[in-house]
Amino acid sequence: MNVQLDIAPLYTGEMSFTRPVVVSGPCSAESEEQVLETCRRLAKYKVDILRAGIWKPRTRPNCFEGIGSVGLKWLKQAGKETGLPVCVEVANVKHVYESLRMGIDILWIGARTTVNPFAVQEIADALRGVDIPVMVKNPVNPDLALWMGALERLNQAGITKLAGIHRGFSTYGKSKYRNNPQWEIPIELKRRIPDLPIICDPSHICGRRDILQDVAQKAMDLNFDGLMIESHINPSKALSDAKQQVVPERCGEIINSLVLRDQSKDDAVLLNTLEDLRTEIDQVDNEIIEIMGKRMKIAQEIGRVKKENGIQILQPTRWDHIIQHRSEQGEKHGLTGQFMTEVYNSIHTESIRHQTKVMNKVEEKPKVV
Ligand code: PEP
Ligand code: MN
Repeated sequence: MNVQLDIAPLYTGEMSFTRPVVVSGPCSAESEEQVLETCRRLAKYKVDILRAGIWKPRTRPNCFEGIGSVGLKWLKQAGKETGLPVCVEVANVKHVYESLRMGIDILWIGARTTVNPFAVQEIADALRGVDIPVMVKNPVNPDLALWMGALERLNQAGITKLAGIHRGFSTYGKSKYRNNPQWEIPIELKRRIPDLPIICDPSHICGRRDILQDVAQKAMDLNFDGLMIESHINPSKALSDAKQQVVPERCGEIINSLVLRDQSKDDAVLLNTLEDLRTEIDQVDNEIIEIMGKRMKIAQEIGRVKKENGIQILQPTRWDHIIQHRSEQGEKHGLTGQFMTEVYNSIHTESIRHQTKVMNKVEEKPKVV
């Protein structure tokens, strides 16, 4: 479902941002010196907004749960010294009031709060009538509606300076990422709310320093508006997220190494070439759809034969054979095993749907006249 949001530019303070908007600072404020030193060093690079977690939502108890309100003062001081706006995470009404009282410039809602409509609504109500930018992280679970719902709640409370932050989605099991990016979800968010700036948070997606650059570059190539990167003066000693934080100089290096490609160019030859290639893609897509329709007709026929002979729809050995062989065939054409499995899982689901319809169709008895 699409929603119409009233979106204004994220920040209309003294500075105007150029793409990418870069938000950086420590995962958690730990001491006055750590916050000030990190921010001073970051300000030497193209960093637009300073961040620090003051109240930390930790997965398990007995971890460092944030320094609390005193950290707001340190961050505000860092903002004053560097001339940069500062942002913090708020998870409840108390956090909102304390941040507003301290003159924090921008708020963000964390992934563990976006999942909870009660919490988001309370924050939105507390912000009614306040003109402050709010960035909303995706919920921990891959639920676009929940992400949009949080943005909608804030917008209905009068917040127009909104942005989404893509920080990836929780997974169970082994993965190269701490939080799976599932890029298709922020891409769909951008399609549904085109004016909404979206910032990618490679730090929480990766959970490790060595692949931050690749994810940051990918975000730029996917036309994200900005990046949120966690920086710390002594990352390995950080009280939270030690594995993913980088020293401010590395953050600067990541930003400086980004290749920013244009979304489009006004070059007639280039536009014609793209147009031709897109026409070719459209033709191939038409063929794919026709062929899939044909495949489903055959599946219906199989369903009819199975019905006549009283056998079940699902034939596990045949299905196993298909998955194995199609992956091998796909690899010969440069298609990954994962892609082939996903495509064939979808085709199989659709095929079963067609066969089920045939199986359960009640034959109309000829009318006796
Ligand atoms: C954070 O930004 O430090 C944080 C807690 O992030 P998330 O809500 O994405 O887990
Ligand atoms: Mn963090």
